[in-house]
Parts: sequence; C-alpha cells; structure tokens
Amino acid sequence: MLYRSTRGSCRSVSAAEAIKRGIAADGGLFVPEKTVQFNLEQIALMSEMSYQERAVKILEGYLDDYTNEELLECVNKAYTAEKFETNDIAPLHKLYDSVNILELWHGPTSAFKDMALQILPHFLVKALKKTGEKEEIVILVATSGDTGKAALEGFKDVIGTKIIVFFPSEGVSQVQKMQMVTQEGSNVYAIAVDGNFDDAQNGVKRIFGDEDVTALMEEHGYKFSSANSINWGRLVPQIVYYFSAYADMIKNGEIKAGEKINFVVPTGNFGNILAAYYAMQMGLPVNKLICASNDNNVLTDFINTGEYNKNREFKKTLSPSMDILISSNLERLLYLITGDNAEKVCEWMNQLKNVGSYSVDQDTKKKIQSIFWAGYTNDSDTLKTIESVYQETGYVLDTHTAVAVDVYDKYVISTSDVTKAVIVSTASPFKFNDSVLKAIAGEEAIKGKTEFELLSVLSEKSGLKIPAPLKELDKKPVLHKEFCEPINMIGKVKEALKIQENIKTAK
Ligand SMILES: *Cc1c(COP(=O)(O)O)cnc(C)c1O
Repeated sequence: MLYRSTRGSCRSVSAAEAIKRGIAADGGLFVPEKTVQFNLEQIALMSEMSYQERAVKILEGYLDDYTNEELLECVNKAYTAEKFETNDIAPLHKLYDSVNILELWHGPTSAFKDMALQILPHFLVKALKKTGEKEEIVILVATSGDTGKAALEGFKDVIGTKIIVFFPSEGVSQVQKMQMVTQEGSNVYAIAVDGNFDDAQNGVKRIFGDEDVTALMEEHGYKFSSANSINWGRLVPQIVYYFSAYADMIKNGEIKAGEKINFVVPTGNFGNILAAYYAMQMGLPVNKLICASNDNNVLTDFINTGEYNKNREFKKTLSPSMDILISSNLERLLYLITGDNAEKVCEWMNQLKNVGSYSVDQDTKKKIQSIFWAGYTNDSDTLKTIESVYQETGYVLDTHTAVAVDVYDKYVISTSDVTKAVIVSTASPFKFNDSVLKAIAGEEAIKGKTEFELLSVLSEKSGLKIPAPLKELDKKPVLHKEFCEPINMIGKVKEALKIQENIKTAK
C-alpha cells in the first residue's frame, strides 16, 4: 500500500515512511491510495475475535510493509488488559434499546486518544528501522488537552524519540494540566503556551513548515515528526473500534451482519469521525455518520451549508477537547470525497489559510450530506443531557459524550431515523468531574472543592471506581514549568534539544 499527499505534489511513500514523516512535504496529509475492502463474511467473523485480533485484521491491509509478527507485537504491547482495565479494550454499554455507548476511555489517560497513541510509538519505532533512519525523532504535539497526555504517556522512554507537547495554558482542565506537568520520562517536555489550541497548533505547523529550522535540526541529528491526529499512524488504529463495535453488536445479537447502523461522534479535529468514514468505505454497513460539535460549531455549519468559515469567535466550552476552529483531518475527507482532487483541496486550503474560509461546490456538498449529518449543543444543554441520562439510566456521561447524546436526540427528532446507533464516548466522566457533578449533584456539591477532591465525590455518587492514573495525581511533583508566547515556540524547541541559535546553518 502506498500513501500520497492530499495536496498532490509529493511522490507516494510506504506506510512506514508516511508514519515517520507525519505530514507530507507539500503540507498535505498522507492518504492510502486504496481502501482495503471487507465483505460481510469477514466482518461477521470478527465477532468471534478478540480486540487485538480484530486490530491486526484491519492494520495488515494498510501497513503491509510491516510483517504480521511486527503488527502483532505492536498490538499486544498497546492493547493490554492491564493498561485498559478491561480485555475488551473498547467495550459497548447498552444505554437504551437501540442505542449503545462505545467506551473508548479505558486506557491509561482516561480519554479516547489512548486508542491511537498507545500504538503509534510502536509503529514509529519500527518505521524508523524500516526506513534506515539514523536521526533521533522529535515528536511535536499541539494539544487541546487529551492528546498531550496520551502522547507523553505513549512515547515516554521510547528509545530513539523525544517528545515536546505544547498546551494552551488556560484551555485545559486542572486534571489535564496536572496530568501533563507531572509526566515522568527522560525524553518528555510539556510546555504551556499563552494562547488557545489553534495558536498552539498553528505554532507547531509553523515549525514543521520552516525549512531553516528543519535544516538546523538535521545538522544536530534530529528529525521532526507528528503525533497529532494528522499522522496516518493515529488514524488507522481508530478504524479498528468501528469494526469492533459492529462485531460486538453481531455477537450480542443486536444486529444481523449487513444491517446498517449509525455512529454519533463528538468531533473536534475530525480524526475520530474520519476513521468512521474510512470504516464505511471499507465495507462496514453504516447508514449515517452524525457529527456532533459544541458551540464551536464550524463543522455543523460546513456540513449544512458547504461553507467552512473559521472567522468567528473562539469559545471556551465545557467540552474543551472539541474547542477547535480548524479541523485538520477534514482535508482528508475533502480529498476522498472529490475523487482525489488535490487541485481543489489545495485551492480550498489556501483560501482557509489566506482568508479563513472556503466554500465547496454543490456536488461535493451533496456527497458530504449524503453521508454526514451535523448538529451542535451548547454548555447548558450539555449539562442537562448529563443530568437526564443519569436520572433515566444511572449512567454517567462526560461532557464530550453528552454533546454527542444531545446532538443524536436532535438528529432523531429532525429525521425520525431510528436506525440502531452507536454513540462514541471519548472521555471518562472522572476527567471532567466538576461539570459532571454540577449536572448530576448540583452546584452545592462542587462548591469550594478542587477537581481532585471531586474525584471521590463522583465515585461515591456514581458507584464507579476512580481510574487509577487519576487517583493520586494532585500529590505528584510538578516536573514541567515552562511557559511561552506562541511566537517563541521555536525557541523552546531549540532549548529543549539544546541547540544554540547562533550555530550557522549550512548553505
Ligand atoms: C480529541 C477529543 C475529541 C475530538 O476528537 P477528534 O478526533 O479531534 O475529532 C473528542 N472528545 C475528547 C474527549 C477528545 O479527547
């Protein structure tokens, strides 16, 4: 399988090369030249398999330059019952008769990013060997909260790599911040940026695109790569859980092989829902993909009107991991849905960069609407949803998942479509416990308490165990205290790698 760039001006590369580079040299994202196909018989067979076996089946088609042994090793290192508290890895929870919740947050950081970031470092280390890389890889990450910790945890002490995470200083929760600044490991850096997620992400993109910096790095034996959701090595493991959820529904007798289902995905950077789109293109019987946003509803507007316009106020919401105005992975969808039209993608991405907006043609809009439905929810309805679901079922949703549940309600009201649905749950309620408790126990219950004290309050109220990694978090020593303006992010990278500014670059 070869991978080409969505911008069309690079030669095609192997999976290992695409994973090593993260982003293509022309600024595009790597996409596989073909989608691997699964027929119903193969999908039905998955219902008898473990999560790990299902993963190998999906991965082997896309990462065909890895041997089966290597893939098995990656999968078995990443998806252990020990790290995920359950051997199901991504279990389904039946919420209502025709609605299941797909819990993707049983990993070491209590959010769905672990599904990809526990395995990406293993793909990458093998990719370095395969491509004869001698340089040390420096992973740069911009995070809206969950990616940062999941990446730090995935890469810590992985030989041949260093990882530098930039997070918006005021845009993440107390728990998220503490998770990052207490990170242990000899190759890890967590740096606060004075700005929002887009500032941090733009800063990282600037560094990746700066040829002088790249040359300077190479002189010092370093090479940049990305663990953001633009890396194919992050996207491909996310395809697995869509197949896995479907296979579990067959196994539970909820559907017959071939029956179409809906997926509802709380969306930010468009990585998770794009993986669902890939699954659908690969043969998974899907009726609609429902894209759920919070008040940063750029994608809702895009899917409903065909105009992507990021020129709007950035809003801090109770679902911070979805506070995003530029959804990077949408570029891949545009490429695929226009039939690999790199020229159009370039045009739109240039407009986005230059004027902050672009409009797709009618044909593209229609195609997108035939597959996706989009809606959004504000903070107050998010809390109401957490409360009503708790009252009705006793199940506790986190704020991101609650956005998806509320948008799903809107979908059903607006379309009367009652096809069986899987709502993708992206975080443990413990991770956003102040909002969750406010919803289910009221303002009084959280008054004057820190997020750390609230962990046990939520545990008592819900009867759920506090996830082990969150438990003693506030007692851990703070190891990372760096802070910078977005403009100084390059300087911080050089500092971390001990590179002096005044060293001359060749040429
Ligand atoms: C990252 C994240 C999302 C958004 O996922 P994308 O792939 O960026 O669309 C949603 N919820 C949580 C909890 C997340 O961490």
